[in-house]
Amino acid sequence: MALRRDLSWLDDDYDVVVIGGGITGVQVARECAGHGVRVLLIEKDDFGQGTSSATTKYIHGGIRYLENYEFGVVRESLRERRLLTLAAPHLLSQRRFVMPAWRWSKPPTALIGAGVGLYSALGYDHNRGLPRSMRSRLPRWWSPARVAREVPWLDRSDLQGAFVYTDTLNVHPERLLLSLVKSAVADGARAMNHVEAVEFVTEPLPNRGGNAIAVTGVAVVDRVGGGHYTVRARTVVNAAGPWMDLVLEQLTRRPGGTSLGVSVRRSKGVHVLCRPLSRGSTMNTVFARAKSGKHVVISPWQDSLFIGPTDTPIDQSPDDVRALEEDVTDLLDTVNSTLNAETAPLTVDDVRDVTVGVRPLIVESGKDSYTTSRRHELYNHGPSGVHNLFSLGGGKWTTARALGEEAARTVLSSAALRGVSTRPFNSRRAGVIDGFGWAVDPQPFLDEAVDGHTNSVLDAATRRHVATLYGTEYPMLLQLAASDPTLGRPVSNDRRCADILAQAVYAVTDEAALELSDIVDRRLTIGTLGEVSRDELQRVADAVAGLLGWSADETDRRVDAEHARRRARRALWRTNG
Ligand SMILES: Cc1cc2nc3c(=O)[nH]c(=O)nc-3n(C[C@H](O)[C@H](O)[C@H](O)COP(=O)(O)OP(=O)(O)OC[C@H]3O[C@@H](n4cnc5c(N)ncnc54)[C@H](O)[C@@H]3O)c2cc1C
Repeated sequence: MALRRDLSWLDDDYDVVVIGGGITGVQVARECAGHGVRVLLIEKDDFGQGTSSATTKYIHGGIRYLENYEFGVVRESLRERRLLTLAAPHLLSQRRFVMPAWRWSKPPTALIGAGVGLYSALGYDHNRGLPRSMRSRLPRWWSPARVAREVPWLDRSDLQGAFVYTDTLNVHPERLLLSLVKSAVADGARAMNHVEAVEFVTEPLPNRGGNAIAVTGVAVVDRVGGGHYTVRARTVVNAAGPWMDLVLEQLTRRPGGTSLGVSVRRSKGVHVLCRPLSRGSTMNTVFARAKSGKHVVISPWQDSLFIGPTDTPIDQSPDDVRALEEDVTDLLDTVNSTLNAETAPLTVDDVRDVTVGVRPLIVESGKDSYTTSRRHELYNHGPSGVHNLFSLGGGKWTTARALGEEAARTVLSSAALRGVSTRPFNSRRAGVIDGFGWAVDPQPFLDEAVDGHTNSVLDAATRRHVATLYGTEYPMLLQLAASDPTLGRPVSNDRRCADILAQAVYAVTDEAALELSDIVDRRLTIGTLGEVSRDELQRVADAVAGLLGWSADETDRRVDAEHARRRARRALWRTNG
């Protein structure tokens, strides 16, 4: 399914315009398109560039939310975990979670056990309909000796054992989000990255009394070409995540405008990507609560450990949020406090990369960002005098489908869409467009990618890599490499990166990538694996320059700018070199 970007689309009329191409906006667009209405999704930067690409990478129930008695959120999340696994199993993987219990643990071991038991009970249907390779076992208890074998770096003093359960790794959230964008487009949505909503277009509604207005469209800017456009829309859905209140500011500031009663609690979440803690790394994810009381998830990912998150309330705009040295040392201190004496502590020199995202939490009085609910909220601004406008707040990657379903139900039954014909759509039973089929085991297809195609110029590991990332579209990558063997070359000499140049070309021709960072950070995997060198950026840029109309000078300028941007970000958390 090719993603195109056509500026003439901005001259058309839509039933629904969705602002924000994170997982929330994408799921809303998919749901609306599935129901057959005319929908345009606009994203000011690139699809998934915001919080949705800065997660802990789990599709999970959120076991720790049980401490806050959030049984509803946990049950909904566990249901959604199963539904997403049925829809896109090639991009998900089951992971064993090890939750250590020390004598000093808080909550105490018996309570952790009760929590794990309840978690498993709330996920009672976890294997229903799942393909064989995605089924998981019931929770169990490991003795200290077993923990020592399985997690050799963990502090064994006062260790009573560990609870073991399963959650689902979102192996490449950026690619899964893109796959959902493609699915929306396959159902008729139009999706445009690098288009920013700058103003609502409104008209007065004198017969509604007071200062009532109706939103009739959105003024947008094409951030690539700079053009200004006015998109007409019967309804607008503000799915700007942590930018949600900033998008609404224009309306709350209008003369006589009342507050829309919506605010977002922003919380910064940082992860670090580090070297493994022990040789012969296992695939166990450790979810530990350190003596300091801080939680940390230590997750094996692509030959590294992905560790986080932090949770720090912030006041800045999400555009200005950066990972700082104190965020990194905070995380490293927490992990190091869970290590045994034989394991070398992690230092900033061991950090390969850092990610930062902003949680868009619902404001709840009396709660901090850690205890604030991860539930989602749908706001209809009609009762505040702004008609045809809806905003979505809170939520999780895991539950975004449910939020999209609820939002579409509300928007499609709103007065503004009266008379618009719709068709039935059930996203609970819809696979992603590039998946191998709903509820179908991807394993035989991935095996076929490796065992068949032996005449391909790509080796077996690369074939598996592209089949996992691109699902049914992987033969296109094989064809590209066959048509021009230079495209079969690796993007990097680092053995942890399996990307090839054909992926960069495909990103531009079929996946709407326009900037270097769109390609390396969200179409390929290289940008998520650590520092990207100038040479690697150059290789990618040279492969796509002709397609994007970049001259040699322009290509070098872009490579320099992207390299400088990445170095500047790195310098904020790696101040000593
Ligand atoms: C550190 C961290 C770890 C997390 N881990 C997990 C996890 O493991 N599992 C899980 O389920 N959830 C997790 N979450 C929560 C989850 O990531 C978020 O709930 C989810 O990604 C929010 O998606 P969103 O689409 O609402 O926001 P975003 O992904 O931020 O998308 C909003 C988009 O709106 C765009 N936008 C803003 N203004 C405009 C405008 N004017 N015009 C056009 N576009 C605009 C932005 O560019 C952005 O792309 C985590 C969150 C954080 C911060």
